[in-house]
Amino acid sequence: MFSAVRKWVIAVVLLATAVALQAAELQHEIRVSYSPDARQEIRFPDLPGYRTLVCDLHTHTAFSDGSVWPPVRIKEAWRQGLHVLAISDHIEYRPHKEDLPRGYDRAVALAAGEAATRDILLVRGAEITRDTPPGHFNAVFVKDLPALEHDDLLEVFRRANDQDAFVFWNHPGWQGAERGKWQDFHATVYQNKWLHGIEICNNECYYQQAHQWALEKNLTLIGTSDIHEPDLRRKNTAADHRTVTLVLAKEKTEDALKEALRAGRTIVWWRGRLIGREEWLRPFFDACVEVHPPHHRIKNAVFLHIRNRCEADIRLERVGTVGPKEIILPAATVTLLRIAAADPKKPIKLQYAATNFLVAPEKPLMVDIEIPGAEQ
Ligand SMILES: [Zn+2]
Ligand SMILES: [Zn+2]
Repeated sequence: MFSAVRKWVIAVVLLATAVALQAAELQHEIRVSYSPDARQEIRFPDLPGYRTLVCDLHTHTAFSDGSVWPPVRIKEAWRQGLHVLAISDHIEYRPHKEDLPRGYDRAVALAAGEAATRDILLVRGAEITRDTPPGHFNAVFVKDLPALEHDDLLEVFRRANDQDAFVFWNHPGWQGAERGKWQDFHATVYQNKWLHGIEICNNECYYQQAHQWALEKNLTLIGTSDIHEPDLRRKNTAADHRTVTLVLAKEKTEDALKEALRAGRTIVWWRGRLIGREEWLRPFFDACVEVHPPHHRIKNAVFLHIRNRCEADIRLERVGTVGPKEIILPAATVTLLRIAAADPKKPIKLQYAATNFLVAPEKPLMVDIEIPGAEQ
């Protein structure tokens, strides 16, 4: 009887040990995939002559009304695959001032070491914060932040521009009865060439009117997170990602970034959409979509692969007469396509609307996909 119990005890102990070992292995596996020093790259292709920089030009830290210590913003951005981060704390609104009495430069100074370590291009910015109208504006590449503290807002714009800053209008649809209106003040700073861009997307919001203004007035299209809290994402995916601006810059330097922003070479990635001027969105689409020649032809159809080289799903809706009604190319995958064709040896032209590539409000990019014929 005793020995039977002992056998049971030994069996249970062995089983428990095996389970514990397995759990430890699993834990190790989980720990490795969660490493704080693993960077989850965001896959967007470069264009010839340009590097696609993933940029967030509007973020906050504890030095204004954010709840994050500045170097943490850098670690977070690096882990999530960003290349460029601006810290742009409010000039006029610093609720933690008594706890953090040091000046406007302190947040960037604290983040600089971490940015250098992780090769994040850190941009010194500020949010100029006035009631609407006229609202909030970001100045980035500011050399002298304390100079932006002044009662006269026009004077603040003059001073930012004297420092060769790039200035954009933040969240133009926010807040109060006068929100989302182009007022005299905006006209003045625009005419003086003191306003260079506009947020068409801020975090979860899209401002259609601002998008229209940007196209009409040749303002650079900007999308930002305006993040205050820690970003809980480990990874940016097609379904859940930070709102960012893809800047097509000649290289990853502050000068090249500024040149690209001034030239308007930007695409906003917002809630699975890519929003840009057609001039840049079209070559970008072409770089994202790699159409392979058919690998198989049967009597009435051809089969081919299309690679989506970007981090966004690509949604195509047929506008021509050939091809499936809808094609979805999931992010960073290869999709098999079967195209019905009366003569499968002939070249085929597919005409589609890329419904999540927007060249203007509610206006998708129209694309042709050419499929070569079989060699005779
Ligand atoms: Zn704001
Ligand atoms: Zn803000």
